[in-house]
Amino acid sequence: MEKIECVVIGAGVIGLAIARRLAQSGREVIVLETAEAIGTVTSSRNSEVIHAGIYYRSGSLMARMCVAGKQALYRYCRDQGIPHRNCGKLIVATTSKETEKLASIRAHAEANGVLDMQTLGRDAARDLEPALHCEAALLSPSTGIIDSHAYMLALRGNAEDAGTAFAFHTPLVGARARRGRIEIDAGGEAPMSLECRLLVNAAGLDATSVARSIDGMPVEKIPPSYLAKGNYFSCSARAPFSRLIYPVPEPGGLGVHLTLDMAGQARFGPDVEWVDHIDYAVDGARAERFYPAIRRYWPALPDGALMPSYSGMRPKIVPPAVAVQDFLIQGPKDHGVEGLINLFGIESPGLTSSLAIADYTAGLVEA
Ligand SMILES: Cc1cc2nc3c(=O)[nH]c(=O)nc-3n(C[C@H](O)[C@H](O)[C@H](O)COP(=O)(O)OP(=O)(O)OC[C@H]3O[C@@H](n4cnc5c(N)ncnc54)[C@H](O)[C@@H]3O)c2cc1C
Repeated sequence: MEKIECVVIGAGVIGLAIARRLAQSGREVIVLETAEAIGTVTSSRNSEVIHAGIYYRSGSLMARMCVAGKQALYRYCRDQGIPHRNCGKLIVATTSKETEKLASIRAHAEANGVLDMQTLGRDAARDLEPALHCEAALLSPSTGIIDSHAYMLALRGNAEDAGTAFAFHTPLVGARARRGRIEIDAGGEAPMSLECRLLVNAAGLDATSVARSIDGMPVEKIPPSYLAKGNYFSCSARAPFSRLIYPVPEPGGLGVHLTLDMAGQARFGPDVEWVDHIDYAVDGARAERFYPAIRRYWPALPDGALMPSYSGMRPKIVPPAVAVQDFLIQGPKDHGVEGLINLFGIESPGLTSSLAIADYTAGLVEA
């Protein structure tokens, strides 16, 4: 059986960032990926927003990884020439009740280390975005957008430069943990078996099923898994905004917000739809809920402008009744299996946090 030091399962943005980090610290790494290419699943079905770290529970992994990851990501984008734009975002209050909430959102952001938020009255907000309807707003200057595919290509390039090998069409189908070594069975076109000292499970939506397929992994440590679909609508009219526009959040989600891609094209969403299987089709009827929500901050949205676009699946590890979840990154101290790291529930802000998650994972290996 071929022996290799580290195996990373999954070539999404998280597996790529971890493979790069491990290889750059001198480790021998192979990435096994079911699909034919990098980043074909959740990493290419998101909003491509570099989040500031405003809302996450203070002290949570999400809050810490997002703030650290954002800084690392901006640095990385500048160093590697990755297309990105530090465009900022406005959180807009359209009623006096929402205006009252802005102070607590800002205080929460500051507790998370997001210290650059600015409170704006209606006129100041409209000076920035003349088409906006609001009573008041919070400006988050450190929010931005990124070309996530260019980012993932750069991560792959760095990982390969440091010696990482990639095996596509090669799913992990089972593994056995034995006294500090893990034997892996990979399927696909050229089935193979490998033995490694470190197995990193970064399989995204499949992370819980990959963990269940590892003989020796205690099942009681594997969280349940649920799916919360996020649907997007594109806009045939030009949306006259240069920043991202978010309503004051509502229970269970961030509300119907406007994000921009690197070409300046607006998209609305994602909403939150709990589902029991993966189907990425977007139901056009959901637009009926988008129109009134968007018109609260952009009254001029023309009738018929919204078009079903794409969707992504959030890998949830808590059921709908539980409002918040955190990233769950387990090392040997958490589950007792030497040489195994599991990454569960890596939903938003996973893209923003990816470099910080890679550092954190490497820290578990080095501990
Ligand atoms: C709707 C939505 C919007 C989002 N918006 C943002 C945002 O704006 N900003 C932000 O920071 N984050 C955002 N996120 C979060 C971000 O997209 C994810 O956290 C991130 O992409 C997760 O990456 P990943 O590598 O864990 O998963 P994935 O990209 O899904 O990669 C996992 C990989 O593992 C592979 N795999 C699975 N099983 C196996 C197996 N058995 N063997 C081998 N390979 C396997 C899959 O094929 C896949 O390529 C959003 C997420 C969603 C759903």
